[in-house]
Amino acid sequence: MASKKNGTARAIRSIRGVYGKLHGVRNSNAEASQTIINRREIEILIAALETLDAGYRDMPDFNPEFDVEKVQDVLVETATRMHDNYPYYHPQYAGQMLKPPHAVARLAYAMSLWVNPNNHALDGGRASSAMEKECIVDLGRMFGWDSPLGHLAGGGTMANLEALWVAGRLHPGKRVIASEQAHYTHSRITEVLGIPFTAVPTDTYGRMRVDEVERLLDEGDVGTVVVTVGNTGLGAVDPVTEIIGLRETHEFRLHADAAYGGYFGLCSALDAETRAQYGALTHVDSIVIDPHKHGLQPYGCGCVLFRDPSVGTLYKHGSPYTYFSSADLHLGEISLECSRPGASAVALWATQKLLPLERHGEFAHGLDQSLRAARTFWHDLHNSSTFTPLMPPELDIVVYAVNSDTTSLASQRAREVFEKAAERELHLALMELPTDLVRHYAPDIEADSETVTCLRSVLMKPEHEEWVERLTALLEASAQ
Ligand SMILES: *Cc1c(COP(=O)(O)O)cnc(C)c1O
Repeated sequence: MASKKNGTARAIRSIRGVYGKLHGVRNSNAEASQTIINRREIEILIAALETLDAGYRDMPDFNPEFDVEKVQDVLVETATRMHDNYPYYHPQYAGQMLKPPHAVARLAYAMSLWVNPNNHALDGGRASSAMEKECIVDLGRMFGWDSPLGHLAGGGTMANLEALWVAGRLHPGKRVIASEQAHYTHSRITEVLGIPFTAVPTDTYGRMRVDEVERLLDEGDVGTVVVTVGNTGLGAVDPVTEIIGLRETHEFRLHADAAYGGYFGLCSALDAETRAQYGALTHVDSIVIDPHKHGLQPYGCGCVLFRDPSVGTLYKHGSPYTYFSSADLHLGEISLECSRPGASAVALWATQKLLPLERHGEFAHGLDQSLRAARTFWHDLHNSSTFTPLMPPELDIVVYAVNSDTTSLASQRAREVFEKAAERELHLALMELPTDLVRHYAPDIEADSETVTCLRSVLMKPEHEEWVERLTALLEASAQ
């Protein structure tokens, strides 16, 4: 019975067959310009799967059947359905926060699916849970933490939910406050948790106003302050150092939502003031960072970190259904989510192995390129007679208004440019901002509406640095 072959080996043969056929399909498409896949990737995946397979050689043969031809047909149809997406992977996609995963993440994720571990408990994913714990250690070190409690989560929303749930348990009945430009998830999460929430006004840079935070703290019922380190709309970094200073006179828990901006602390190109905010993160109580935003991961990878591991006791439950079999820490014991993809941990581990989270390293260099791309883009727009960029980008997000006589016209023009640019395969995003904020940067626009639709470009790809000149040219052409 015992056979060297098993389902994985058969699956590899199937991939080879299907890959060969797809290859043929592609070739018959003649010189159809560049493709989004690098064929070497598929070869690397097969080699990795063969190594994976070798680990299960002692198992008796077991090969679940599937109809290769039918699967191929369905997959080709599925790929065709996928055409109705913007080309997120391409530098001319300069709109929303979308960054392609690194090849190593994509391949490690795919490879792990032949085992499909579940990081809820060690029994469901022993190797991938160990990888997750190693990733957490490295992510914690990036913020100067030696032994945080933490784990991966479905995304920044789930990770923030846990951080605010812990905050609410430690400060029952007290308010959570976060900036007006904080991710909208905070007001929604607090509603789910039944915690009162107050939004704090921002300054002309889009950062939370410290005087307003202090005023709210003086009222005495604030339990937790959320600082956003790189807000989603503008990329502005809240004044972490000054808010930490308020702890001398007030007691509150401090949570940093660094879902978007967390990794930028590794950059050399930050300005000194922003760098100081990152340096202060070591003093906050919890941090959320999204490896699926700037950490080169496929979606489904957020992370929450707690500086004080003793908050783990808050997660205690008495469920008889779980299958915690050993005294070692099962990540399901410190996570609100139960089943979680081991694949996410495998992909992140492989990525951090290839591109360690080091200052001046290759990973940091890629982020520096994004920062420089945004600054160049902002300067180019500053010299344009068609556009007015708002605040200089603190990270890699640039927001700009279209010059017009009135704010309502500026909004209409922004929507037109958005459409025209898309026709030229330049993909932008739109953002609604308060008229006062926009007029701070474009005082000549007459206010006849409460908000202004602006254009927004998140220049997340390192390649944006090389492409920025082309982006500006396409943008100007789209506005004619
Ligand atoms: C993206 C983002 C979130 C939400 O995270 P998801 O991964 O989309 O669930 C929360 N906060 C900030 C600052 C973000 O940028």
